[in-house]
Amino acid sequence: MRTQVAIIGAGPAGLMLSHILHLQGIESVVLETRSREAIEATIRAGVLEQGTVDLMKEIGVGARMEREGFRHDGTILRFDGIDRRIDFPELTGGKAVMVYAQHEVIKDLVEARLASGGDIRFEVTDVSVHDLDTTSPSVRFRQQGGELQTIEADFIAGCDGTQGVSRPAIPKGVLRGFERPYPFGWLGILCKAPPSSEELIYALSDRGLRS
Ligand SMILES: Cc1cc2nc3c(=O)[nH]c(=O)nc-3n(C[C@H](O)[C@H](O)[C@H](O)COP(=O)(O)OP(=O)(O)OC[C@H]3O[C@@H](n4cnc5c(N)ncnc54)[C@H](O)[C@@H]3O)c2cc1C
Repeated sequence: MRTQVAIIGAGPAGLMLSHILHLQGIESVVLETRSREAIEATIRAGVLEQGTVDLMKEIGVGARMEREGFRHDGTILRFDGIDRRIDFPELTGGKAVMVYAQHEVIKDLVEARLASGGDIRFEVTDVSVHDLDTTSPSVRFRQQGGELQTIEADFIAGCDGTQGVSRPAIPKGVLRGFERPYPFGWLGILCKAPPSSEELIYALSDRGLRS
């Protein structure tokens, strides 16, 4: 099999890339280890910044976000019980954020890709990348336990996150990472309840940081 761009990972990055390439007349194949149901149900991000909101509208996948998302013009930082509101439009010349869950973005992107004939292979296994330092790199994978298949491509886009196969496959000396590790973790607790505030609150107290 041959395509112009083989994309590993159907997260927001891989799906968005595939859709933008399609709009530019460039074909791609997206490989994803999980099922469509699983990627459309995994709760992760909730806040989209202005650049992402603008991009989604520009590439024609922003209609449901505009209908169902919540625009937030600010956020509240709370220290020792005292609120300080950060006014986004005032400080940025009109920008805001949109509260619209990442799995909803995924649903919109999957739907858009499939509606325009996009090729997304869900539940693939044994994904590996080859010949990265040549002009015809390739990706191998299995679909539904079948034969090992090969996609030859002009480019491979590794959009499979920090735990994927792409990053470790990049030849030594080419990859340059930028990161700032923090000495604490993040625990997310979801509850079904009406919002406690119109805007997000980030509160620092003697019991830790909460949002
Ligand atoms: C709790 C939480 C809250 C967050 N909140 C925000 C927020 O409010 N705003 C914000 O902007 N960001 C937020 N983020 C970060 C945001 O979720 C990530 O930046 C985003 O998911 C990165 O997208 P991605 O497409 O690069 O990778 P991912 O979303 O990680 O997608 C990678 C995809 O690749 C697939 N994959 C992995 N390995 C393989 C393989 N070998 N072969 C094929 N497919 C593979 C995975 O199944 C996955 O579907 C949050 C993250 C978490 C965990």
